[in-house]
Amino acid sequence: MDTKARIIPIANALKPVTPLDDAPAPQGGSLADRRGRRVRDLRISVTDRCNFRCVYCMPKAVFDHDYAFLPRTDLLSFEEIVRVARIFVDQGVEKIRITGGEPLLRKHIENLIEQLAKLPVELTLTTNGSLLVKKARALKDAGLHRVTVSLDGLDDAVFKRMNDVDYPVSDVLDGIEAAAAAGLAPIKVNCVVKRGSNDDQILPMARHFRHSGHILRFIEFMDVGSSNGWRMDEVLPSAEVVARIGAEFPLQAIDANYPGEVAGRWRYADGGGEIGVISSVTQAFCASCTRIRLSTEGQLYTCLFAQGGHDLRSLLRQGTTDQALESLIARVWRGRDDRYSEIRSAATELPTGAAKIEMSYIGG
Ligand code: SAM
Ligand code: SF4
Ligand code: SF4
Repeated sequence: MDTKARIIPIANALKPVTPLDDAPAPQGGSLADRRGRRVRDLRISVTDRCNFRCVYCMPKAVFDHDYAFLPRTDLLSFEEIVRVARIFVDQGVEKIRITGGEPLLRKHIENLIEQLAKLPVELTLTTNGSLLVKKARALKDAGLHRVTVSLDGLDDAVFKRMNDVDYPVSDVLDGIEAAAAAGLAPIKVNCVVKRGSNDDQILPMARHFRHSGHILRFIEFMDVGSSNGWRMDEVLPSAEVVARIGAEFPLQAIDANYPGEVAGRWRYADGGGEIGVISSVTQAFCASCTRIRLSTEGQLYTCLFAQGGHDLRSLLRQGTTDQALESLIARVWRGRDDRYSEIRSAATELPTGAAKIEMSYIGG
């Protein structure tokens, strides 16, 4: 049987990778894009593989045993990742998040963490939690500051339907506790809400994580990628999440921790802690988006919904100097004009055969 082509190269082929001619040249100092947004957060995807098949991210029908995941030689090495990260830190990046695919599947990930931890940044990682019992202590010892763990329900049947690999809730909960015991706190727990699939889990999740010290965050189901069959009627607006929880436990809005924080914050009036809602669909936050993404194979993306990246890996492997890389990165950011979520309705119309980049590849 033919091996399935990856979706990504098709998307990349749509656009030249360095459309920089009309971008202002770098002039030193901290970087602002065309909309005045600074580069602050770097998300690094370390693998496009995962041991889950979440229905909204890597549906089995697409990501099956014929799917062509990246060969090992295409992956950026840890040395290459650290080199790029260092340049970004020089350009103003203050936060680095390791992601994927499932980042804990990347062999010796703690070695990468150890090197990145030497940079003056907040260093975090997003994981499905399945390997945390095994790895939390080593990650902490390597210098990781915090983890975000994804969990889409407390009911085993619902969660198993969401991850589609029969993975039980209890193992993720054990992973969260192992991370807390290792000191990777405060832990954020991300729950993607799909109306009609797991929205009955909102209240059980809220009840479970109140008073736990962990911050539960509900994410609107996004139209990222081209394989998850996204439909607007499956998006449960964050306002409804807040209303449902607020009806049982009164909530008060609280200020963002910093300008540009993606989650709207709410606290339980009785002191039970806080929750967050990420309203990527109903309340786009492009105006304050300071994120840039480095894919597993070294493509740089200025938006989660980008249809083309900038190929850093070739440059890294051609002996390009740090100065030239710095200059390219600065030009990419200065040329950035993305605001997909703000203009979603028009932009979801793609040319025939076009594909948006998958979350598991670009890194959530
Ligand atoms: N495998 C890790 C995990 O699940 O935490 C890290 C990678 S995953 C792509 C990062 C985050 O993206 C997860 O919290 C996941 O729930 C979220 N995500 C993936 N697809 C999504 C979608 N279509 N809409 C909203 N969030 C999504
Ligand atoms: Fe894997 Fe994370 Fe995507 Fe789920 S959301 S399939 S755990 S990469
Ligand atoms: Fe940032 Fe693009 Fe998401 Fe807007 S759509 S918040 S620009 S990643």
